[in-house]
Amino acid sequence: MLQSSFTLILGIALGFRIAAEGPVALASWPVAGVAMSSLGSVVVLMAPAARVEVLARVLAVVHIAALGMLAHGPEVGISSGLVVFPSIWLGLELGQRGVALATGATVAFVAVPGLLSRGVDLVNVEWLLLLTVLAGFSAFATNAALAAARTAQARAEAREAELAVALEVIERNRRSAHAVFEAVDVGLALLDREGRPTLVNQRFTGFSDLAFPVADPAAGVVFDESGTAQLPSEQVPTSRARRGEEFDDVRVWVGRDDGARRALSMSARRVEAADGRVVGAALSCTDVTDLMRALKVKEDFVALVSHELRTPLTSIVGYVAVALERTDLDPVLHKQLDAVARNGQRLERLVQDLLDEVQHSAGPIPLREQDTDLAVIVRECVAGARPQASRVGVQLDAEVPEQIAFTGDPQRLAQVVDNLVSNAIKYTEPGGSARVLATVDDGCVRITIKDTGIGIEPADQARMFSRFVRGAEANRRAIQGIGLGLSIAKSIVESHGGQIEVDSAPGCGSEFRVVLPLHAAQLAS
Ligand code: ADP
Repeated sequence: MLQSSFTLILGIALGFRIAAEGPVALASWPVAGVAMSSLGSVVVLMAPAARVEVLARVLAVVHIAALGMLAHGPEVGISSGLVVFPSIWLGLELGQRGVALATGATVAFVAVPGLLSRGVDLVNVEWLLLLTVLAGFSAFATNAALAAARTAQARAEAREAELAVALEVIERNRRSAHAVFEAVDVGLALLDREGRPTLVNQRFTGFSDLAFPVADPAAGVVFDESGTAQLPSEQVPTSRARRGEEFDDVRVWVGRDDGARRALSMSARRVEAADGRVVGAALSCTDVTDLMRALKVKEDFVALVSHELRTPLTSIVGYVAVALERTDLDPVLHKQLDAVARNGQRLERLVQDLLDEVQHSAGPIPLREQDTDLAVIVRECVAGARPQASRVGVQLDAEVPEQIAFTGDPQRLAQVVDNLVSNAIKYTEPGGSARVLATVDDGCVRITIKDTGIGIEPADQARMFSRFVRGAEANRRAIQGIGLGLSIAKSIVESHGGQIEVDSAPGCGSEFRVVLPLHAAQLAS
């Protein structure tokens, strides 16, 4: 259609020429050109659809030839510039071949006949050369623009395909993440900045229903680790996470009904945006009901056994002590009774440790505080440990000031020093030494127990203060112990507001440091 409409333009151009130059004979080149173009257009319009494409290309060449005929005359008409249109068409349809065809047709039908009819002068040559270049360049530019457009389109399509693949991957990952989110045995929830849940898995919902049987957050049934004291709403882990707190392994019981209630271990982390703003919180909770019930059974069992052992043991130790006071004892029997007394006392300490562990495992050890002299306590502990030290060939020294006024529980503090000193002797080989140093500075009492013993692996050092944890070397050498002394010592020291720490190197020895803050009154005195 576009090609055919060009005939109309040729007709108009002929009209202009007649208007400018006067009537043109019917049997003239210009009229023949327009007639040829019209005929070509009619042929294309009437051709079967399958042939239109080829014929339209031929028609473009016919139009160039018609333009050449239309321009026939003494002067080069401006209408020859119309050669641009069929050239564009050829460039568009045939690419590089179209460029060659447009240039060739312009040379053959416009330039050469023009030169032949008007003579070879500079103006003619210049004008016809320009016309040829214009035709070729139009076809070329169209072809180049088309190629660029096609490349851009191909790139856009490739990008679209990449995007579709990326979207598919994202969607697949989202589905996988969601499947994992729902399948894990852990309750998970994501809260927004206002503390509203934005993402919650089924498991979390189940625990939440137990903890908050009615929708009101203030009416939750959440209990502390012991399962007896109900937590105030602001202490409930979800409320703490909403306030931006981070925590690990906070244990709570949810639900009132004994059969259905569950023990949960909850952790929370803040969710921060790239600029560090807090935008929410992530909460996780694991069902630790079986573990907590097993621990309870263990504690009940240990308590029962320790209690049942303590009474007969106290009696044995007491009677042996009385027997040892007799002066008429056979020396061999005295030695044997001495061994019974020593081991009885060790057993007593062990049972006491087990009882302490069971009774105070969940919190600080209660203290019977009074004004006391820490220097006396340390000296007595060292004196009490001397027989053990000389028996195993460890040299025990102490450097303690005359007096250290302190307010605390003397029995518990003695338990700490006893434990650390007896460990220093127990974990030092014969020929080694242990040294106890007590000082007062910076408002603190420092008690240092240093030995030249087997030491503790760096990786084990922090764990040594946990319950029932023993060092690998202690286990390997089968040194007696159950791994409770340090954990109890830590609880006692912390109950006094102090700290206990260790520096140790395997094979070189250990240094345990107890730092206890002095009360304001003692500092003033
Ligand atoms: P126990 O001595 O009954 O095992 P403790 O709680 O007193 O329990 O000590 C825990 C562990 O710490 C010990 O098993 C031992 O591995 C390590 N440990 C404690 N004191 C020392 C020490 N002075 N030297 C080397 N290792 C020690």
